[in-house]
Amino acid sequence: MSRRRRIYDCKAKVLFEGPEPGTLVQYFKDDATAFNNQKKGTITGKGVLNNRISEYLMVKLGEIGIPTHFVRRLNMREQLVREVEIIPLEVVIRNVAAGSLAKRLGIAEGTQLPRSIIEYYYKSDELGDPMVSEEHITAFNWAMPQDLDEMLALSLRINDFLTGLLLGVGLRLVDFKLEFGRLYENEEMRIVLADEISPDNCRLWDVKTGEKLDKDRFRRDLGNVEEAYQEVARRLGILPEGGPRDMKGPSTMQ
Ligand code: UDP
Repeated sequence: MSRRRRIYDCKAKVLFEGPEPGTLVQYFKDDATAFNNQKKGTITGKGVLNNRISEYLMVKLGEIGIPTHFVRRLNMREQLVREVEIIPLEVVIRNVAAGSLAKRLGIAEGTQLPRSIIEYYYKSDELGDPMVSEEHITAFNWAMPQDLDEMLALSLRINDFLTGLLLGVGLRLVDFKLEFGRLYENEEMRIVLADEISPDNCRLWDVKTGEKLDKDRFRRDLGNVEEAYQEVARRLGILPEGGPRDMKGPSTMQ
């Protein structure tokens, strides 16, 4: 993995130069961080599971016409993606009160929201990803009004689709975070879904028991973190054969 040029090293992933121009290789690490990097740890096998879960969900979204950066999975820990210009926003979609919303507004965790709520956060580690409004986003040119409209429309479709898909396997999609990028093709620009969708950036609760099957197990020291990620993959019917414990470099798996 060290032969290729590293483009970007973030908390849970590394982006390498891809095999063709306009492509990148997204490598999924086992590293986990929370509370703006104050808590750090490793979740064994997480990278393998997130690579597979994100592939599965991006492919399904592609099938209903959501444009994504995903091209194909290369091996246990890597996927090929289109290179996009990342819009510096985290788009959070909420269906049930939890996390920062529950805390900030004093709403009991688990309260069903009257409708899905979208929030935007400006991606900045130094500032701790502050929440911003559409006014800030357009005034500072992080995105144009039409980009925002497109991101909102895509986010709502993604939310409806994933809510149904996950409910079908007994999981409640409480909230999740998306990132979008600009893809330039034949002098045209398209907004596409980028980054990943995995238990690292979703809250997933068991429909019957309310058990948390996501990164909150790590954030809140609830234990059985690896098992929770595995359970999500198992319910989706995509647990890698032999489990997620390939710790070494890439081994091609088709
Ligand atoms: N989230 C994320 N990355 C972030 C912040 C939040 O993926 O940097 C996800 C988080 O996993 C949850 C949703 O966005 O599914 C809403 O998170 P919240 O604002 O409640 O923040 P938290 O309290 O979890 O930091």
